[in-house]
Amino acid sequence: MACEFEIIVSGEDRQGLIDIANLALDEIERLDETLSRFRPTSEVSFLNAEAARGPVIVGPDLFEILRVAKQVWRETDGAFDVTAGPLVDLWREAEQTGNPPGRQAIGEALKNVGMARVLLDDQTHAVTFDTQGVRIDLGAVGKGYAVGKAASILMEYGVESALVSGGKSTIQAIGSGWNVGIRHPSKLDERVAEIALHDQAMSTSGGPAQRDRDIEERFEHIIDPVTGMPARSKAASVSVIADDAMLSDALATAFYLRGRELAKRFPEVRAIFVPFE
Ligand code: AMP
Ligand code: MG
Repeated sequence: MACEFEIIVSGEDRQGLIDIANLALDEIERLDETLSRFRPTSEVSFLNAEAARGPVIVGPDLFEILRVAKQVWRETDGAFDVTAGPLVDLWREAEQTGNPPGRQAIGEALKNVGMARVLLDDQTHAVTFDTQGVRIDLGAVGKGYAVGKAASILMEYGVESALVSGGKSTIQAIGSGWNVGIRHPSKLDERVAEIALHDQAMSTSGGPAQRDRDIEERFEHIIDPVTGMPARSKAASVSVIADDAMLSDALATAFYLRGRELAKRFPEVRAIFVPFE
């Protein structure tokens, strides 16, 4: 998933905890191999190549992610959309060339975007695309899922106090007493807030959260799937605190695009909008 994962465990049995943390890291590695669309051998790459030709039966992780992704897509009026892949590619290319894509290219890409084009069969776990060019991109939710899965493993083995983080953009606490910071929008070493997490996850979209300090971006990497244009967020970053790490990850991306109006519709999560300076 092109990012570093980190696990902090605390407790008595040092070697036992290290072994359990390694199991959780192995699971993250396995998920990365499954979910990355940049690995030609991943399950997502197979799905992207085959699902327009006919139903593809996928494993439990990918099916669960797609099921939740479709639900969040509905609940966010399409702001969160894992089929934004073709648009993400266009703007990623633009980042390299320096030239924004033309209207026509965006229009073409939009024809292949929309979670309605992804058909999910709850009984058989078959996934079918109803259009040839659909491309699933789990960049906005895969890290959250992997963090959540790693935390579940730690809990299954009886770990009562731990922190799991993925690329600094999603972090999940097991137990209480974990304080995590939200970075200043431009001063990378400063925090604008400190949040106490109790068995909760926090994800951040936008801002410097998941960027290296020496990377300059010309175009936002979060794309509005309705217009095909990069996000024009009113906030420098958005952090979402939820019980589930996949949900916090997905909603942070959606709230970054749609702002507080959308966040108000999710009373079960907390959202922190960091304004531009
Ligand atoms: P995040 O950092 O979690 O907000 O995820 C951003 C990544 O998700 C981008 O780099 C794209 O790979 C992908 N993405 C971009 N726009 C969207 C969108 N509107 N919905 C879902 N995924 C997106
Ligand atoms: Mg996200």
